[in-house]
Amino acid sequence: MFDVAIVGSGPAGAACAAFCVDAGLRTLLLEREKFPREKVCGDCLNPSCWPVLERLRVLDAVRQLPHGKLDRVDFIAIGGRTVSVELPPGAEIAVKRSLFDEVLMNRARAGGAEVREAATVTALALEDGQWNITAGGESFAARALVAADGRNSTVARLLGLLPRIERDRVGLQTHLRLPVNFGSRVVLQFLPAGYSGQAPVGNGELNLCLVGKPSAMPALRRWAEVEFGIRPGHTWRTITPLRRAAVAPAERRAFLIGDAARVVEPFTGEGIYYALRSGELAASAAVALVQSGDEKAAASSYTAAHEQLYRGRLWVNRVARAAVLSPRLSSALLRAGVLHPRLLYLLTTKVVAR
Ligand SMILES: Cc1cc2nc3c(=O)[nH]c(=O)nc-3n(C[C@H](O)[C@H](O)[C@H](O)COP(=O)(O)OP(=O)(O)OC[C@H]3O[C@@H](n4cnc5c(N)ncnc54)[C@H](O)[C@@H]3O)c2cc1C
Repeated sequence: MFDVAIVGSGPAGAACAAFCVDAGLRTLLLEREKFPREKVCGDCLNPSCWPVLERLRVLDAVRQLPHGKLDRVDFIAIGGRTVSVELPPGAEIAVKRSLFDEVLMNRARAGGAEVREAATVTALALEDGQWNITAGGESFAARALVAADGRNSTVARLLGLLPRIERDRVGLQTHLRLPVNFGSRVVLQFLPAGYSGQAPVGNGELNLCLVGKPSAMPALRRWAEVEFGIRPGHTWRTITPLRRAAVAPAERRAFLIGDAARVVEPFTGEGIYYALRSGELAASAAVALVQSGDEKAAASSYTAAHEQLYRGRLWVNRVARAAVLSPRLSSALLRAGVLHPRLLYLLTTKVVAR
């Protein structure tokens, strides 16, 4: 019998597991993949992540990973007009998720969590205040459950919480050799069919993301093939949806964290921060639940903390989504100077704390 079972070892689940073991909970972390593995992501770590990583005592380990320094954001309109916004020096970096997520998983394991890789959760049942979980052909029991299994959360689906997924945009991602003179910058580039994110991730590599409607993907890929000299048969990682209704973050003795609870627009590069911090909040809720047995109190305090985490920040997300859904209009505004550096500076300040 575990005190808490956490499904998914992305930043949300691994952080939650580490905080749970530190608080003395018998902790199980179930992960579908065998690490290290890549993940569709822009690989950019928002400075808000640093305090959480410090509390996890992995700040130095993460800083020492191969990474790209990001000193500015270049917003590029269709046609090439570029508006640059400086970032606080040293605050934002890009790290491959294969490396970052492994540091976090190892941290949870070293703290005392039981980590099972290649263990896909396929069934759940809550009986007499205990979760019975089937993963990778084995059965586990736990008093509390944490869903950290991403935007297409199996746990949310098994609990009947996952909203109907609308037909949505698709994200493609790959790593390439870093173009010469790319510089220490993150690029957010509007394209007629969607947008592209680009960031150096260290060791001479570039993270390249493409986002657009399914029908636009061939055109976006062709653009990337020409722009970066990619061969047509190149393999891309893919993910959908990019947008999904938020899910109630607590349900009986279960807490939902990271993308499993709420998906934000990738353009803002904040998803990893929300994952880490909601993992920390859910660990406190799991401790309260295990110690008091009061599932209503634990659920309502986690729900309030989760709401507070996003309060006052989601409007930037809406602005970003509106911008990327209309790349031609956004490009026209960039070219006309309506989206001038000062305004973009203020908007980035809302995402990248200075
Ligand atoms: C194109 C794109 C670019 C992005 N760029 C950035 C960026 O630059 N910076 C940023 O901060 N955010 C970015 N994001 C968002 C970021 O990737 C996510 O917000 C973040 O990964 C969420 O972390 P998580 O731990 O909640 O979920 P995930 O990272 O998705 O981890 C979920 C884990 O659960 C596992 N899992 C799934 N199902 C099961 C199951 N049934 N059983 C067991 N395990 C399971 C998966 O294998 C995975 O390891 C981007 C997203 C997209 C789509």
